[in-house]
Amino acid sequence: MTTKELATTVQGTISKPPKKGWLYAPSPEGTDHFRLKPRYELFVGGKWVEPQSGKYFPTINPATETVIAEVAEANAEDVDRAVKAARKAYHKVWSKMKPAERGKYVYRIARRIQERARELAVVETLDGGKPIKESRDVDVPLAAAHFFHYAGWADKLEYAFAGRRARPIGVAGQVIPWNFPLLMAAWKLAPALACGNTVVLKPAETTPLTAMILAEIMQECELPEGVVNIVTGAGATGAAIVDHPDIDKIAFTGSTGVGKRIQRAVAGTKKRVTLELGGKAANIVFADAAIDQAVEGIINGIYFNQGHVCCAGSRLLVEESVHDLLVRKLTRRIETLRVGDPLDKNTDVGAINSKMQLEKIQELVAHGVSEGCQIHQSRAQLPSRGYFFAPTFFTGVAQSHRIAQEEIFGPVLSVITFRTPDEAVEKANNTQYGLSAGIWTDKAAKVFWMAKRMRAGVVWANTFNKFDATSPFGGFKESGFGREGGRAGLAPYLADAGSFASARSFVEAE
Ligand code: NAP
Ligand code: MG
Repeated sequence: MTTKELATTVQGTISKPPKKGWLYAPSPEGTDHFRLKPRYELFVGGKWVEPQSGKYFPTINPATETVIAEVAEANAEDVDRAVKAARKAYHKVWSKMKPAERGKYVYRIARRIQERARELAVVETLDGGKPIKESRDVDVPLAAAHFFHYAGWADKLEYAFAGRRARPIGVAGQVIPWNFPLLMAAWKLAPALACGNTVVLKPAETTPLTAMILAEIMQECELPEGVVNIVTGAGATGAAIVDHPDIDKIAFTGSTGVGKRIQRAVAGTKKRVTLELGGKAANIVFADAAIDQAVEGIINGIYFNQGHVCCAGSRLLVEESVHDLLVRKLTRRIETLRVGDPLDKNTDVGAINSKMQLEKIQELVAHGVSEGCQIHQSRAQLPSRGYFFAPTFFTGVAQSHRIAQEEIFGPVLSVITFRTPDEAVEKANNTQYGLSAGIWTDKAAKVFWMAKRMRAGVVWANTFNKFDATSPFGGFKESGFGREGGRAGLAPYLADAGSFASARSFVEAE
């Protein structure tokens, strides 16, 4: 390779993307190795029961707009039945069981998730639209890892919080969103069960199916009946859980708007609450960063899972001197992202989860254009059916623009410049949210200087969107409170260590 060619590679001088786009032979993952039921009932007291409401709703594949299965719609009476089953299981079995025995069940669930991993990955992709390589390599392994991690804690709780007794809280009501359906269920169930609580869980309306398989797994693992109850439905079902008087703890992951409503609903009640809410993370790139590596991190940070990630790096703060270079590289890189069939193993960007979400993305992108920001969009050919959105980024974005402030929750990045580290800190923190941030620089001292000043629960350095069952995750400001993952994730499920204050001081002490 000549010096000139090398310079071209390292500096990334832009060549024109191939006219026909990047073609790969289709490589679809098989769907004939499992069979879904045409209709799912509610999972209450260890059994599948018909809803009192008598109502069912379809869950569709957002990549094809076809119905995959019907799911029961739980009303307040159904939720009440589930809470009663959970209460009975709590008193009669689960809170009395030796912690090491509880741990064995949680290990069993983890292993069964691994055994059914291929099926879970395909169903997650069919129901939610995310690329199979993500559900296969990220969602399912992380979900199993979460159960393994907390299974190990079950008989060591006395050591987790020195000087405190490890007592469970009681019945937990858990409400989760559609962006990581199985993984969010794992984040909620694993610590709750390990600590000796019983659960009523509600998956999101558009992605209930992996939770249904999880219910089958609970049966296969012979988990005592009523320890885990899964009720499907929409927002009203979630509200019925939040409002139920015999629930001791609410764990919610979802939008900040609904989180605020929940906090108001539980104010003055006995219920404890943890909220994992929205985000508007900044990926901050300094001129001294390894730029090509940063480009990959930015791509991973916002186009991964179609930007349906609460901690997505949806704002790119770039040092002014490398702005043009970075924009050229990004322009070229988004052109190479393969958008389309989520079941195809080559697909990078799959389907938007629902029509409603697609319309929200379209509305905010149109707003960005109307505010005078320059739009850069991949020319990828989108499938004619299903909900798809091409990878997009905006330059010329000011902090006051809606696309710099509001969570778009789609594959859309807003690029903003800065000149000094102080300015980067100020701009990064200038949102209502505080879930995550990324820092790209080759100076470790700069990483620490910046990280200390970030009002964000997670700060990644020279990487982005890395998760591990052992590390706590959660928000600052309107991104919520409470931590999930690691030792800190036990606190919200223990009576004596479970307050927000202890979880927070614990995290800060680490
Ligand atoms: P959402 O509309 O707030 O819904 C979340 C869950 O709450 C769903 O199961 C939903 O049911 C249910 N729900 C809706 N209204 C309710 C109410 N009044 N009372 C109780 N439950 C109610 O959020 P989403 O649009 O599904 O999810 C995207 C949001 O989640 C984004 O803001 C994202 O940032 C956030 N998120 C945060 C984290 C984190 O860890 N911080 C992780 C993932 C996602 P239906 O969907 O069935 O209507
Ligand atoms: Mg669906």
